[in-house]
Amino acid sequence: MIQHIRRAAVIGSGVMGSGIAAHLANAGIPVLLLDRVLGGEKNRNCLSERAVQELFWQKPAPLAVKGYAALITAGNLDDDAGKLAEADWIIEVVVEQLDVKKSVLALVDAHRKAGSIVSSNTSGISVQVMTEERSDDFKKHFLGTHFFNPPRYLKLLELIPTQYTDRSVTDFMKSFGENVLGKGVVLAKDTPNFIANRIGTYGLLKTMQVMDQMGLSFGEVDSITGALIGRPKSATFRTLDVVGIDTFIHVAKNVYDQTSGEEQLVFETPELLSKMKENGLLGAKAGQGFFKKTGKTVLELNAKTMEYGVRQRMKANSIERSKQQKGSDRWRTLVYANDDAGTFLWQIIAPLLLYSAELTRTIADDIVSIDRAMKWGFGWKEGPFEIWDQIGLAQSLEKMEVQGLKVPDWVKEVKDSFYVENRYYDPVTKVYKPVSEDKKVIYLPRGTDVIKENSGARLHDIGDGAALLQFTSPNNAIGLDIIQMINASIEEVERNYQALVIGNRGKNFCVGANLGLMLMAAQDDDLWEIEATVKQFQQAMMNIKYSAKPVVAAPFGMTLGGGAEVCLPAAHIQAAHETYMGLVEAGVGLIPGGGGNKELYIRCLNQMPEKDLQAAANKVFETIAMARVSTSAAEARERGFLYQSDGISMNGDYLLYEAKKAALYLAETGYRAPVQKKIPVTGETGYATMLMGAQSMHTAGFISDHDLEIARKLAWVIAGGGVPFGTEVEEEYLLELERAAFLQLAAMPKTQHRMQHMLLKGKPLRN
Ligand code: NAD
Repeated sequence: MIQHIRRAAVIGSGVMGSGIAAHLANAGIPVLLLDRVLGGEKNRNCLSERAVQELFWQKPAPLAVKGYAALITAGNLDDDAGKLAEADWIIEVVVEQLDVKKSVLALVDAHRKAGSIVSSNTSGISVQVMTEERSDDFKKHFLGTHFFNPPRYLKLLELIPTQYTDRSVTDFMKSFGENVLGKGVVLAKDTPNFIANRIGTYGLLKTMQVMDQMGLSFGEVDSITGALIGRPKSATFRTLDVVGIDTFIHVAKNVYDQTSGEEQLVFETPELLSKMKENGLLGAKAGQGFFKKTGKTVLELNAKTMEYGVRQRMKANSIERSKQQKGSDRWRTLVYANDDAGTFLWQIIAPLLLYSAELTRTIADDIVSIDRAMKWGFGWKEGPFEIWDQIGLAQSLEKMEVQGLKVPDWVKEVKDSFYVENRYYDPVTKVYKPVSEDKKVIYLPRGTDVIKENSGARLHDIGDGAALLQFTSPNNAIGLDIIQMINASIEEVERNYQALVIGNRGKNFCVGANLGLMLMAAQDDDLWEIEATVKQFQQAMMNIKYSAKPVVAAPFGMTLGGGAEVCLPAAHIQAAHETYMGLVEAGVGLIPGGGGNKELYIRCLNQMPEKDLQAAANKVFETIAMARVSTSAAEARERGFLYQSDGISMNGDYLLYEAKKAALYLAETGYRAPVQKKIPVTGETGYATMLMGAQSMHTAGFISDHDLEIARKLAWVIAGGGVPFGTEVEEEYLLELERAAFLQLAAMPKTQHRMQHMLLKGKPLRN
């Protein structure tokens, strides 16, 4: 039995094969990527080689950093099948045709080493049928591994064992999927389209039916089936455009072919979709589908005329009312309203809930798997049974019965809700069972474990001598309350705990400082107040750095401006794989004001084997002046934000657990606060060198006068002012330079315009 995946092989280098290969490379696993030999092509690896090249420009980026492509070796099935014997895991990702898949798997069976794991990425073909003529050892090690597109970003991985699959193989792949690939793993039964696509496709087709009956437009439907009901912004039809109309037809047909009766009717390809396919309206890849972009305007397709017109939005009282509400209240307002929005939502949600209940035992082990599959595979905030609890089981059943909808018997046996605290209802045993909690997920309830709290942050006791500081302000933006809580937390931890983690479980780690407050003070000419705040922020960052107990920062998602500055002085950074980190203050006419210039410089310098001051300064200057944001934690490391010794958590859900482990490890292995050292700077000559590039960009018209002004101040701070090259300066001195430059910029009208624009429009102004 394989205990490690040291090498993998992916067969099929199309959309999914190349994406899976890239994600394996992100996890540090060397991959052999094979495809067929194209007749008439001199280069026998042309398909797989082209696929690797395409990884560089695809958006969103499949590779965490471009350099990881070196882990992927392109080859072809004719010449390189022998190399399959080197792989611990071979994954088949060829076209969705049983005969093709079977012939590829026969080849794999002939070349693989005994004990290696083999899987198929099929979207819905029976996994069991694929193994029919294979050897016993193959059968024991074979299962379905269904990734979602794009494999790097979509959390769900459905595992589909067959009756022959060795239990230990499934267990191993679950743990490997969660820990190494960072996926949310759900076990699915070997039924058409497995869990997420079965239910998701049903929901989409039902939506089309109801929409047609009510005479609504695609725009109207999208305006209420996205964020309003906890689904991605791309809602229903923009999602379909991304998936591709042809792909969707294929997926739906797969269920149609394998079902019967009423269910089958829902999966019949709607005429409109066939018409769209014939007319080449395939969605995003064809530049037109349900929507089409002309210039900056998005037009929607008219299903009757097949022409594009102005995109509509649905308006209804219930929509407005629901926006003031949350959770259960919001759901109830939406689905029980008597206006168009309510009628429509009820008619699409009720069948979805009933269908999920009907299928529960057929497609999954429990309702939890179904909820997780929909959340992780389709980006829904809640799965069907969680939604059902929100809209109220009793009230919904009443309405369903009045409407003559068929409710599965087991649902009628559920008392009030499908979930009660951390238990879920099991229709087989008819009892509530504990939701199998992942021990590596740390939840941060507002419970008894709170040590301290103020309006912007909360300090939790997370056990084993560790405390965790989480920001709780809107967008976790840093204001004085957070600064105070950082200081208070360090004091508390120095007295009563072993280590401190700074992190949270929201959408983003922190998007920066509270710009609104800063702008108000700047506009009131209250520079004294800004100076005091900046000074306190700098001091709090110094407290993190020189804390007697280790402080570990756990960034993820957007970690911008002040958010990045909080991480830089930490004893250790444990970053999620998906961390988008950058010092982006230039976008609002400023430079970092919490010691970020100095800390990034120190990190870059420490990572240069030759301690090349100028190279370190240039790197920091470029990163901050261009407001560069990393597209992954690995890229943040390339930019100098992370040391090699800092950690990257592939699974974002495990981030706090792994950060806590790292913090306690430091504490238990004799952590000592760093000793304050002077810092060698580039001084006057460094300043001139850094500015040269900015000046030529200004002359060429690439950057504005104000950009150049910001660049000047930034270069001055990074250079350590007008001292001779190589002078060693105190940290406090660099912080003073930073503060002065920050204040001068904040006082400038153009900077204030930038801040205002960012607050109003959410994007930078280039003035
Ligand atoms: P694709 O068309 O992009 O790629 C298919 C690959 O199979 C191509 O590289 C092609 O050269 C190769 N191929 C074709 N015939 C072959 C043969 N005879 N021998 C060897 N290789 C051959 O398709 P895709 O979207 O990457 O889908 C691949 C698999 O993943 C399918 O089973 C599909 O159902 C499944 N899947 C797709 C998605 C998705 O969103 N695209 C999502 C989940 C699963």
